[in-house]
Amino acid sequence: MKKKQFKTESRKLLDMMINAIYTHKEIFLRELISNASDAIDKRYFRSLTDPDSGLARSDYEILISADEDSRILKISDNGCGMTADELENNLGTIAKSGSLDFKSENSAENVDIIGQFGVGFYSAFMVAGKVTVVSKVYGADKAFKWESEGVDGYTLEECDKDGVGTEITLHIKPDSEEEDYCEFLEQYSIQRLVKKYSDYIHYPIKMDFKVNKPVEGKEGETEEVVERRTLNSITPLWKKPAAEVTEEEYNNFYTSKFMDYEPPIKVMHYRQEGAVEYTALLYIPSHAPFDYYSKNYEKGLQLYSSGVMIMDRCAEVLPDYFSFVKGLIDSSDISLNISRETLQQDHQLRTIAKAVEKKIKNELQKLMETDREKYEKFFKAFGSQLKFGVYSDYGTHKELLQDLIMFTSSNDMKLTTLKEYVSRMPESQKSIYYACGDSAEKALRLPQAAAVIAKGYEVLLLTEDVDEFTLQTLMSYEDKKFINVSTDELDLATEEESKKLKEENESGKELLDFIKESVGGLNSVRYSVSLGDHPAALSSEGGMTIEMARVLSKMPDAGEGLKASLVLEINSGHPVTERIKALYADDKEKCAKYCKLLYAQARLLSGLEIEDAEELSGLISELMV
Ligand code: ADP
Repeated sequence: MKKKQFKTESRKLLDMMINAIYTHKEIFLRELISNASDAIDKRYFRSLTDPDSGLARSDYEILISADEDSRILKISDNGCGMTADELENNLGTIAKSGSLDFKSENSAENVDIIGQFGVGFYSAFMVAGKVTVVSKVYGADKAFKWESEGVDGYTLEECDKDGVGTEITLHIKPDSEEEDYCEFLEQYSIQRLVKKYSDYIHYPIKMDFKVNKPVEGKEGETEEVVERRTLNSITPLWKKPAAEVTEEEYNNFYTSKFMDYEPPIKVMHYRQEGAVEYTALLYIPSHAPFDYYSKNYEKGLQLYSSGVMIMDRCAEVLPDYFSFVKGLIDSSDISLNISRETLQQDHQLRTIAKAVEKKIKNELQKLMETDREKYEKFFKAFGSQLKFGVYSDYGTHKELLQDLIMFTSSNDMKLTTLKEYVSRMPESQKSIYYACGDSAEKALRLPQAAAVIAKGYEVLLLTEDVDEFTLQTLMSYEDKKFINVSTDELDLATEEESKKLKEENESGKELLDFIKESVGGLNSVRYSVSLGDHPAALSSEGGMTIEMARVLSKMPDAGEGLKASLVLEINSGHPVTERIKALYADDKEKCAKYCKLLYAQARLLSGLEIEDAEELSGLISELMV
């Protein structure tokens, strides 16, 4: 028989399709099953207006059979089948999609057709050296056989076939060093692939299993029997109305599908209608996966196109700050053949991503308002990620996230939102104050924090590296500026006190210069009234705060320039200050030593290390003997 050449030109095109579009060979099965399901849809759809077959909906099925000895895998369906012309047009022309034609011809109807690209069928050649398609349409007496060994072309001839539909025979390639094709013939791996990719195809996918069963009446004897099993679940959980799904079903689905031992903190299951339609089943885990805060963690949602899984982890539908969300999106508007490269440009997917982001934010907000305990549990697991989200991308998402973040409050050492903080501010308070430390208790003990609290104001206690960067990115909340208490921005002095301080600083300039000289490394030294009972404290001036410098200097590419401009603040009313003043007049050498001690104290209170521990130890010993 004369071989016909593929209509579209070259070997190259077929080669490219087979090798470039799909990264995993195993998806060929998904493609063929989806085609079979589409074919059944078409037949079923036609039978609604033109009763052809007498088949009930429950008679439709997809049948798989595999034989390891002959290396033959068959996938048959009792769908619409193809005429000789259709075989030629649909399979003889690469990138010609019969499904797409069907869809455009029937555009008014609600037809849910998976394949729209006209390349899926060829994925069979990734695993098969030869593919035979026997197909028969309703009302025809003859069937037709299309056969091809890939790039060389194909043959088409008449043949016999029982029943309407299509049977695809794959002659699975021999195993090679690089690839074990035999897995595509093993009943359990076929079962696994059907579960993985085609679990929710809405017709049963059946396969004959060879199983050993005890012989009835004969103790200890077994015999091999063939059992026809349905491999797919058919109705996906997420396609059921939310009101019909129990909490247990949601949780079981989550723990088995997303490999978590603990049930989620929150389930979101909804259907979005509108420009782009999709169903989402989303989960917020109750704890961070062990690798969550490492670069190995991969975010993403599963992507389904009409019940067929097309991607296991699609990162594009989840923003980084919600990367903890697990779940799936199912939309008939997403093409089955979407590839990693085209994802970012995909308009539908971008629309879905935007809607998903909004939904997650609203649900988190709701959780915070209705179940604070749960929200705090969530926040302890994933709050850093939200705070990081405020700070990243130059603050682009700060509006979206600012009401979801929390910090420990000096009031009760519990988490508070910015909104709650502002609602408690007394009239006289103009700014939002925060203090940094490696624990909330340490931040609370900063001399300046104590002074702010003494004024009757609340202080947010920041303990994580990202915290101050988050607030710096926000800059203000409801027009209230954020002020780090350990900076020159803190100004608690009354007008009168300010005036007095200014005079003191001017008249004491000689001593202050002496202290600066004796200590070294300081930007300035000045008197302050915001130190409570402490003799001295450190603060910074200019944009770089002590905390920021500490965090940045830990970065792998930290340079030398990452230093805060340090200010030593001296409590003008403290007895220690009196003592230093006196020593300055009597014994400059001793005074210099005391200045160093004072500075060491201030460093410790700010959570900074002592630069020269040996020197400090010497000074303390001297003081003691
Ligand atoms: P797609 O499914 O993306 O349209 P394929 O290359 O997988 O592209 O298939 C090409 C066309 O061949 C399909 O659109 C359909 O018209 C036809 N086809 C494939 N498999 C079957 C089948 N099992 N039964 C009937 N028609 C089929």
